[in-house]
Amino acid sequence: MTALVPYEQALEAYEPVIGLEVHVELGTNSKMFCGCPTEFGAEPNTQVCPTCLGLPGSLPVANKKAIESIIRLGLALNCSIAPWCRFARKNYFYPDMPKDFQISQYDEPICVEGYLDVEVEGKTYRIGIERVHLEEDTGKSLHVGGATGRIHGASHSLVDYNRAGIPLVEVVTKPVPGTGALAPEVAKAYVTELRDICKTLGISDVKMEQGSLRCDANVSIAPRGATEWGTRSETKNVNSLRSVERAVRHEISRQAGVLDAGGRVVQETRHFQEDSGTTVSGRSKETAEDYRYFPEPDLVPLAPSADWIEELRAALPELPTARRRRLQGDWDLTDLDMEALINAGALDSVEETVAAGASAEAARKWWLGEIARRANEDGVEVSALPITPADVAAVVALVDAGSLNDKLARQVIEGVLAGEGTPEQVVASRGLAVVSDTGALGTAVDAAIAANEGIAEKIRGGKVQAVGALVGAVMKETRGQADAATVKALILEKLGVSE
Ligand SMILES: [Zn+2]
Repeated sequence: MTALVPYEQALEAYEPVIGLEVHVELGTNSKMFCGCPTEFGAEPNTQVCPTCLGLPGSLPVANKKAIESIIRLGLALNCSIAPWCRFARKNYFYPDMPKDFQISQYDEPICVEGYLDVEVEGKTYRIGIERVHLEEDTGKSLHVGGATGRIHGASHSLVDYNRAGIPLVEVVTKPVPGTGALAPEVAKAYVTELRDICKTLGISDVKMEQGSLRCDANVSIAPRGATEWGTRSETKNVNSLRSVERAVRHEISRQAGVLDAGGRVVQETRHFQEDSGTTVSGRSKETAEDYRYFPEPDLVPLAPSADWIEELRAALPELPTARRRRLQGDWDLTDLDMEALINAGALDSVEETVAAGASAEAARKWWLGEIARRANEDGVEVSALPITPADVAAVVALVDAGSLNDKLARQVIEGVLAGEGTPEQVVASRGLAVVSDTGALGTAVDAAIAANEGIAEKIRGGKVQAVGALVGAVMKETRGQADAATVKALILEKLGVSE
């Protein structure tokens, strides 16, 4: 194997071009060409019928909801919608495809010539969308008995056709040059944005871990200043946003290694290895001729009326970019603040916390501070932690009311995260309903000093460790409902002593 070239060094000599193909499983109730249910995780081969099993004599009928979904996605991606187009048969044999052909779209995709703008490090990159087309998903092969779950080394394979025939949208970008060293980040930002658009449109649950959004990343590099692009590799089924970035980064380093060693990059599909962050060679890339495409004879052409398209366009929801702009304005944030919020995956959480009554500033502070830190430690998204926007809003309300200070609020959040209940319950069970610094707590401290003048004198004289006795007196006076560290600090402050 050729040695990798360190990423920065690769970028000095070569210019990358990326391209992304994203498959999105639509969240329709029934499959693309039959009435079978589409629920994830059912017993294998329980959601099948003669049509999706490709039995002789069965006939497909296109799913209107799926067509509506892809048109809405095409419109959101600034595409033109074809007034007339056809499905095509893509012929190939594979055990997970019972018909031995896949109904797809070939030279007549339904959405073409769009774009999506993504922002990375304050710069906007316009990603050209070549096509968005509709096809049916394949079944799933399970290779049993090997170490890797791949067919190599397996003793036998099982196949589950529940997924066969689920509507699948494929979004293909044009080649994207000009991203330079940020190619991996731009790729990730694009897939993220596309995912968010699908989510906003409500057309898919876009769960990468369940395979309802899958990404293939094409990467090529060419020597800087070259007039032609290099040969590309296609890394298949990259299954997390982070992996998209890692796969592109790795391919740039790998291809630079091949070229530096005087070799040639092979046009092939590759597989991303999650554990090592590398890609390994798959099969050499097929060309369209290998598939013997021809128009699907069992389906009528698709001809969405202009009225219907305009109706769908008018009913599009507020898209992620517009929403981010609106929220940034509402919350009066700088671009940098906004980017931090998005990168922390906390935009929805902050918005919901504000909706639950907190100020945007306070909501941001907790989601980006304590909670993001915890999410980072656990290696999860903030939204996956067991704390809700309503919980955070409740904590903020307690702070605003003066019943908690920041330090205690952190303990309340810690308690909620530990499963101790709502903020109110944590406050009660941990005894955090403190008397505030300036209010009754100050009176309690004054009383303790007055009642223990001898000890107070020692402390003034430099015997700071004697403060424990006064803290104890205040804790007793407030029936334990004070924060000891706060009390200690307050006593020292009143006695004019620093620790
Ligand atoms: Zn079926």
